Amino acid sequence: MVRPVSAAALLFALFAPLAAQSRLDSGINAKIREEENGHSQIMKTLHVLTDVYGPRVTGSPNLKAAGEWAIKQMQSWGFTNGHLEPWDFGHPGWVNERFSAHITAPVKDQLTCEVVAWTPGTDGTVAAPAYQMQMPNRPDAAQLAAFLDGEKVKVKGKIVLVGKHTIVPVNITPPAKRRTDEDVRAQYDPDNPNGGRGRGRGNDQPPPPMTARQIDEQVDAFLVANGARVRVNDAAREHGQIIAFNNRTYDLAKAVPTVVMRNEDYGRISRLLADGSAVELEFNIVNKVYPEGRTAYNTIAEISGSDKKDEIVMLGGHLDSWQSATGATDNAIGCATMMEAARILKAIGVAPRRTIRVALWSGEEEGILGSQAYVKEHFGTFENQKQPEYSKLVAYLNIDSGTGRARGAGVFGPPAAAAVVRRALAPFQDLGVAGASATTSRVIGGTDSTSFNNVGLPGIGFGQDPIEYNTHTHHTNLDTYERVIEDDVKASAIAIAATLYELAMRDEMLPRLPAAQMPPLPTPTRP
Ligand SMILES: [Zn+2]
Repeated sequence: MVRPVSAAALLFALFAPLAAQSRLDSGINAKIREEENGHSQIMKTLHVLTDVYGPRVTGSPNLKAAGEWAIKQMQSWGFTNGHLEPWDFGHPGWVNERFSAHITAPVKDQLTCEVVAWTPGTDGTVAAPAYQMQMPNRPDAAQLAAFLDGEKVKVKGKIVLVGKHTIVPVNITPPAKRRTDEDVRAQYDPDNPNGGRGRGRGNDQPPPPMTARQIDEQVDAFLVANGARVRVNDAAREHGQIIAFNNRTYDLAKAVPTVVMRNEDYGRISRLLADGSAVELEFNIVNKVYPEGRTAYNTIAEISGSDKKDEIVMLGGHLDSWQSATGATDNAIGCATMMEAARILKAIGVAPRRTIRVALWSGEEEGILGSQAYVKEHFGTFENQKQPEYSKLVAYLNIDSGTGRARGAGVFGPPAAAAVVRRALAPFQDLGVAGASATTSRVIGGTDSTSFNNVGLPGIGFGQDPIEYNTHTHHTNLDTYERVIEDDVKASAIAIAATLYELAMRDEMLPRLPAAQMPPLPTPTRP
């Protein structure tokens, strides 16, 4: 036996408040479980958001229509004050409507690619020789300019493969799909000094002289100026996975039609070119631009409160997605989960004391823009508060890491705030929930809860089992309905509904950091 006294003390500390809490809420928690297990709407919501409205790129008609549908759906559940809230995205909407790619010589075959957002279409079929531009490694601006100068005549009229083929090694030891209980408990253990901090990976290399974005933009400008027909990038991932982001200038005139090709097709063409074969390719890309997309929308609906209705508990996730799949795990399922958590409370007849507000964000993928615009508009910052709203927000709950069940929560604020959330989650250990820990980071990054943390408001981010998120679905062409595990997302909805109930009903607001302990606003580091 090791240190029996402290172990007993620990047990007491763990279970005494837990037992009191379960007695208090056992009735409501049983009803929450019963509603979700018997009458779940979560997979139906997921189906509509993905199959009917996906992909949901910010500024696109699809995303707006998804928001309008979500409002109607929440109204049919008895929610009120449903509306789209505009904010200035500043870029047109963009949609890829049609796309095909083929190799026509020395063999005939179809090629698997995804179109890069905010790049132009091909205006009909483009058939041209392939040329592979072997990019210099970590160039500075002068080296890149000198290199590109030597490539001018070679890219004219060509379909240009930009960069060497990436060798993706076969992964013999894929990462675990679930986290162990021990690991999750350690992360959310309030007494663990390293808990909840995340484990950053070290990087010995000094930063390159130019960022990938700077190189990209210079290459784009070069290809436009020198008459390249299409730009092709290597997906550089295994099993046909493709991640296609955007032309970050959002200006279609500043790029040629651009796709990301699966690593296997890119490799095949690279090897044929290395043989000395002439390779002919054929692309047809139809993209459409929507000027009205400059105004984007956050989707809002409420369950109005009673005696404390001017105090607000928010919950949500981002509704926008990237374009190469239907954005199921990132993040239709997060939206479906938060809509569901609120729906459960309505369905079991809870009359919340505080107003519950669901917010489905846009512009997350382009830089967490929609939630930041909302926070700025409604709350201000700790340093420049909009009163009284700033002091009326109890918390904002966010989920955005795929299909894996919620295993714990990171709460911006003092340890006492995390303790409230931990008590609400304690009855759900059977669903794998370990607890909650406090964070005081005001850095914006990762997801929308950080927009709240950034201004000193209590953002709560749920940590989830990874399942296939980082390995397969996050931002990829494989992010579809099929990748969502119903049991897991129902478990998340149950635990979050119980947390929401606690925050909407308890006498006090969630404790906040005293002014003296509020960390200073970090200076933005985004490139
Ligand atoms: Zn996301």
